[in-house]
Amino acid sequence: MSNISECKTCTGCTACKSICPLNAIEMKEDEEGFISPFIDKDKCTNCGLCAKTCPELSSTKYNESLSCFAAAASDEIRKNSSSGGIFRVIAEKVLEENGYVCGAALNNNAEVEHIIINKKEDLHKLQKSKYVQSNLKNCFIDIKELLENNKKVFFCGTPCQVAGLNNFLKKDYENLLTADLVCHGVPSPKALKIFFDENIKLKSDEKFLTLDFRDKAYNDWNPDFTTTATTTATTYVMSNAFNGAFLSDLINRKSCSTCKYATQNRVGDFTLGDFWGIKHHKKSLDDKKGTSCVLINNLKAEKFWEKIQDKLKFSEKVPAKIAYKTNRNFREPLPAHRYRELFLNNLGKKPFENILKSCSKFSPDCAILNFWWTSNYGAILTAYALQQVLENMGITSQLVNYQYGYKKKLFKNSLFENFANKYLNISEKLSSKKDFDKLAKSVNTFLVGSDQVFNTYMTKNRLNEYLLGFPMTEAKRVAISASFGVEKLNITNELRYRYKNYLKMFDYITVRETSGIDICKKEFDCDAQWLIDPVFIADKKIYENICQTATLDCSGKILTYVLDENQKYKDKYKELSTKFNKEVFSITKNNVNVQDWLNAIKTCEYMITDSFHGMCFAIIFNKPFICIVNKDRGAARFSSLFDKLDIQKSCLYENISDVNIDMIDFQTTNYQTVNNNLAEIQRTAFDKVKSMMYDDKILSNDALAAQINILKDKNFKKPIRDSKLIQYDITETRCNLRIFGIKFSFKRK
Ligand SMILES: Cc1cc2nc3c(=O)[nH]c(=O)nc-3n(C[C@H](O)[C@H](O)[C@H](O)COP(=O)(O)OP(=O)(O)OC[C@H]3O[C@@H](n4cnc5c(N)ncnc54)[C@H](O)[C@@H]3O)c2cc1C
Ligand code: SF4
Ligand code: SF4
Ligand code: SF4
Repeated sequence: MSNISECKTCTGCTACKSICPLNAIEMKEDEEGFISPFIDKDKCTNCGLCAKTCPELSSTKYNESLSCFAAAASDEIRKNSSSGGIFRVIAEKVLEENGYVCGAALNNNAEVEHIIINKKEDLHKLQKSKYVQSNLKNCFIDIKELLENNKKVFFCGTPCQVAGLNNFLKKDYENLLTADLVCHGVPSPKALKIFFDENIKLKSDEKFLTLDFRDKAYNDWNPDFTTTATTTATTYVMSNAFNGAFLSDLINRKSCSTCKYATQNRVGDFTLGDFWGIKHHKKSLDDKKGTSCVLINNLKAEKFWEKIQDKLKFSEKVPAKIAYKTNRNFREPLPAHRYRELFLNNLGKKPFENILKSCSKFSPDCAILNFWWTSNYGAILTAYALQQVLENMGITSQLVNYQYGYKKKLFKNSLFENFANKYLNISEKLSSKKDFDKLAKSVNTFLVGSDQVFNTYMTKNRLNEYLLGFPMTEAKRVAISASFGVEKLNITNELRYRYKNYLKMFDYITVRETSGIDICKKEFDCDAQWLIDPVFIADKKIYENICQTATLDCSGKILTYVLDENQKYKDKYKELSTKFNKEVFSITKNNVNVQDWLNAIKTCEYMITDSFHGMCFAIIFNKPFICIVNKDRGAARFSSLFDKLDIQKSCLYENISDVNIDMIDFQTTNYQTVNNNLAEIQRTAFDKVKSMMYDDKILSNDALAAQINILKDKNFKKPIRDSKLIQYDITETRCNLRIFGIKFSFKRK
């Protein structure tokens, strides 16, 4: 690699920028607000020096720690330090020896940058952890100059910064001392700025003085941080949202999630961190004012450490394994939160606190019930597509992990499990009524769909879950492209009555097949609208990205994906293979992983399928296909889609025996027309989903009456239809009712 342009794990350490002989690299804010290198192609000669210097692209020197201490400075120093104040004690000694100290300081605009000082009265600026990426500016170049002039320098920063400095300097300077911090990760400076501006509205005569991310005046030394901002007028106690986002890994630099410095071997001479949990080793080493974990990583640090022992309140050697055990950052990097990108994309668009609330693990904006957990390509990709569509609208979601009939194992097939773990956002496992009650209290919007979630055969015993009986009355209920799986229903009056009550509770019902609109009206007196399957609403790019990780390629082949395969099919494959002179590749129910399944469709020449979603993806990838409809699995969905997209039904067969090899040319679908129709349908569908999600909930009297019926059915073993037993008291905002003396009270809006 001749320059750093392809560095995927850039930490923003500035080594490349500092070494470039042509000044071709500028450090600027990237899209997420992190300081990153940008190359001026006009100036760059591709000399390769930056890539050779970059710690991420070349090697880094690590030290094996010699010893570990639990230590603390005086109470006075610790009051103004985040941890045990060891940084200040080392720095004071270096200054006493006429040296220089380089560390992170806040400027007048509440931005963090590394500065170099040589006066004790400036040392307070460098004290305390600032939980945001610090801008190193030109510090590396200035440090080198000082070192070359035989000045002592002490540099303290995150390990990636220390590694950057070491690689830039290229040699061990005896007059340089470094300390790397145990590092959880660095948040985006843009996130801090937005958070600060939202929280502090300075008056015209008020000036910002300082930010304290861990104000010990409020919390002692404690992992629950309190952040304060001091101005010329007062001290503000800030909300905990910034620390929450930082510690949940929602706003940290991407490189932090794969950080190669999160290990016991260290790049600095010293390592400084909080000695959380030291009290479990020895109670007296935690006086609640701050205890540092100090690793001595080489002889230079060991010698220096001896020199400052008399300045410490306490310093006790402890087995390093205690530090390694209590601090995860010594063992592995902390993975980025699943919604990291979503959070950073929403910065500035919504209030910081609201983004945090919706991105935090236990309170997504909505919960989804569908059959994502069955080992079925269509089901899992539908769930994925729906989550992606919602994410695109700035809505976080969780698929409810409720797998009836599968008590022990998530999937019968680990190929699907691996995909689900990687691509889906799934809730904790739910099995009891208590679990559903808990979910009902934590989420306000519930989605059912897509796929055959309204199939009465599949869900008749799960109405409370799949027809959303469990959420609070005031929760929003939306059916997304739900399917009955049949064109006409054949159900008992009892089931019809129950279904109707549940469906009446929905705020919006959209169905995948046009026949579903009639079923809703005729059978349940409910209004429904048609909505295309979510796999078509999502951007095609999401599937192309998945395909990049596939290994199966079906270029030049006829792909068959047939769920109900038999000898007749196999005979036809042979004939087709001969006619088109192409090899046949067959995927049966689930013999390849989801990525390979998608890529097989994307790359094949022609496709034969009896699967609805197999056909959907053939359409998405514009593949010539023929489809054999299995009536038992539901035929309505095929013809409904063909009508909407204006696809010739001549590629649709009722039986494999009907396929006339001589007549087949695989060219009946005009993809130009289909794509135009699809683009329009996709746009309307996206807007429809967005308005259903964002519109305010209005509880109708119809829905209230249905809720009462459901409650009666739930509370009494036999359905009670006698309305005299119920007393209503409906006001504009609440509905209070009493059934057999049991009180219920609901918000109406
Ligand atoms: C972003 C960040 C994440 C951290 N994560 C952890 C963690 O997960 N576990 C843990 O045990 N310790 C962590 N620490 C270290 C811890 O917070 C203390 O900084 C450390 O224990 C030193 O404490 P002290 O009392 O000796 O000195 P303090 O006075 O508290 O620290 C001052 C030193 O920290 C440096 N510093 C402050 N902010 C930054 C910054 N943004 N970038 C680079 N250097 C900075 C200053 O240059 C100065 O040298 C982290 C520190 C930072 C900055
Ligand atoms: S390749 Fe050479 S000239 Fe180009 S940015 Fe890197 S160091 Fe500078
Ligand atoms: S890690 Fe450092 S040296 Fe490498 S590209 Fe990023 S800023 Fe440059
Ligand atoms: S976690 Fe790693 S990459 Fe991120 S700031 Fe800390 S040392 Fe650098």
